[in-house]
Amino acid sequence: LPIHEAVLGRAAEFGDTPALIDGVDGTTITYEQLDRFHRRLAAAFADTGVEKGDVLALHSPNTIAFPTAFFAATRAGASVTTVHPLATPDELAKQLTDSGARWIVTVSPLLETARTAAERAGGIREIFVCDRAPGHRSLTDMLATAAPEPQIAIDPVEDIAALPYSSGTTGIPKGVMLTHRSIATNLAQLEPVMTARPGDRVLAVLPFFHIYGLTALMNAPLRQGATAVVLPRFDLDTFLAAIETHRITHLYVAPPIVLALAKHPAVAQYDLSSLKHIISAAAPLDADLARTCARRLGLPPIAQGYGMTELSPCTHIVPSDRTEDAPPGTVGKLLPGTEMRIVSLDDPSTDVGAGERGEILIRGPQVMKGYLGRPDATAAMIDEDGWLHTGDVGHADAGGWLHIVDRVKELIKYKGFQVAPAELEALLLTHPGIADAAVIGFYNDDNNEVPHAYVVRQPTATDLSEGEVMTYVAERVAPYKRVRRVTFVAGVPRAASGKILRRELRDLQEQRRV
Ligand code: ATP
Ligand code: MG
Repeated sequence: LPIHEAVLGRAAEFGDTPALIDGVDGTTITYEQLDRFHRRLAAAFADTGVEKGDVLALHSPNTIAFPTAFFAATRAGASVTTVHPLATPDELAKQLTDSGARWIVTVSPLLETARTAAERAGGIREIFVCDRAPGHRSLTDMLATAAPEPQIAIDPVEDIAALPYSSGTTGIPKGVMLTHRSIATNLAQLEPVMTARPGDRVLAVLPFFHIYGLTALMNAPLRQGATAVVLPRFDLDTFLAAIETHRITHLYVAPPIVLALAKHPAVAQYDLSSLKHIISAAAPLDADLARTCARRLGLPPIAQGYGMTELSPCTHIVPSDRTEDAPPGTVGKLLPGTEMRIVSLDDPSTDVGAGERGEILIRGPQVMKGYLGRPDATAAMIDEDGWLHTGDVGHADAGGWLHIVDRVKELIKYKGFQVAPAELEALLLTHPGIADAAVIGFYNDDNNEVPHAYVVRQPTATDLSEGEVMTYVAERVAPYKRVRRVTFVAGVPRAASGKILRRELRDLQEQRRV
């Protein structure tokens, strides 16, 4: 099915149930409205000249209008390229050019950025706004169109529904071609695990522009008749207040939010008793931290999921009825209809045994069609037999529970040993004086690559020293994993998905050396 049918096929049936609630001002869109609005807007888009195969850039923070714009665009036959709302004009211009976008939907606070980027990129035929801005048509006004609903034939196997860009953690962001079928199949695979149903409320705080937010916070709840309470950005107090006010039942978050829920004093000031279920994905989550968080909130263990933009996004998740017996730290079991291999890092032609580390390979309906306009990058990622090489190191036990160690490229190689930064980061976070931490390698005077920790002190631990941090780690790990340098920083640079931007730390490291 096309994605708008797969997600909104039952919208009419859910009728007056709120589909989306603005978490700040309480404005609500019901399922009946969402169904009607996106059809009307699709008619207005088609009437304006949006054609099958066009790319529409959706440049907006999370708002209750976002899904209407998204599904109207796909119903009109367009592919939606979602854009980071904090993108600079230059970054947006690059994405517009790279994706060949012809249309932009934005919000008035971002209009200047959109205009500047559109001028630089060229080829943009119109900029629409979700709210209101002089000189631009508003989506709300466009709902009044008398144009007929477009009847576009969509081939779910070939046609691109979404064109998100990978996070750019390891290289330049690339446009990831996801077909209607890939995204819809992944939603169906996740249905038993994403348990929000009518009457449940999901807090949509992770950005919709990233595939995790798009799937877990927009598509899955809307497909299943739950209510998404929408916040435009993460701010701890607003987030906690929204859980209390809106009686949120389900949280789909990334590890930095788990960290805040586990450690931040503000958490105690709110009534979070409505929460039933927390899933964390997108970056490594330490087992101890997950346990501390669940205990503090009086919840069952936090379930993890694993995926990547190129996989629509999910391949593994802890089944909702297995959270109690899942081994600590696991990202879960393979979804049905998906295949996995774990191959040796030294010899990719051999599979490793149960419990052994190797690179994770995936084959299944959720594998992307390719990177837009980059056949070489696509061929480097997906081999001739259809296996996608994730670049992630992991191991699975005989029961199929997968653990992620780290990315192949992030491993610090010390005298033939491999040190996973994620493991050291998790350890550092167990220190009561450490609020956040990130680890990268550096070459010492003997030209060995060794771990360098960037540490954020807790406000109460202003006297925490470099020596104390190094000793804390040294007492708990094998000698080859010891942290050999510590730099205190005000914050750890992270992508919107919660991932540590190690290349920014590497830039810092470079600057110091000069
Ligand atoms: P780029 O590919 O542009 O460098 P990126 O890989 O960070 O960016 P995403 O697609 O957002 O872009 O992230 C996918 C990656 O996130 C995976 O390859 C994996 O390294 C990491 N990841 C996802 N889920 C988990 C998890 N539960 N535990 C550990 N790592 C995870
Ligand atoms: Mg990646």
